[in-house]
Amino acid sequence: MPFKEASLILQCPKCDTINYLDPFTFWNFKGKIKCAGCDAIWEYALENGHRQGPPKEGKPPHDKLPGFAQSKDWKPITTKGKVADAPQAREDFQGKPIPIKKSVRGKAVSGSPLTGDDLIGSIPKMFYTGI
Ligand SMILES: [Zn+2]
Repeated sequence: MPFKEASLILQCPKCDTINYLDPFTFWNFKGKIKCAGCDAIWEYALENGHRQGPPKEGKPPHDKLPGFAQSKDWKPITTKGKVADAPQAREDFQGKPIPIKKSVRGKAVSGSPLTGDDLIGSIPKMFYTGI
């Protein structure tokens, strides 16, 4: 039976920091990962989420950072530069809606809060005013 373990977790052999390798980035991976605890570089390979061998010490530069990490006494490590930024579906989208008035097909849509003028000619306004 093949040797299996939680291979999307890389526990640093030097400092015992638990580096979580997010599946989005590391499901199929071969390269160097920097430990978020002690900055040691580990050569590591994963295939379909299963590790292909124990981590081997490598030299900088690293290829990827872990998605999240915890120290051995379970304190989270989220410092920028130690762990990777969360993957974004659109890097240019940072959480504010883009106000639009027309769909890609040119039809009027409301992509922002409506004003009274926007309702001129609308069905709900016709019911309200009777015109
Ligand atoms: Zn370490």
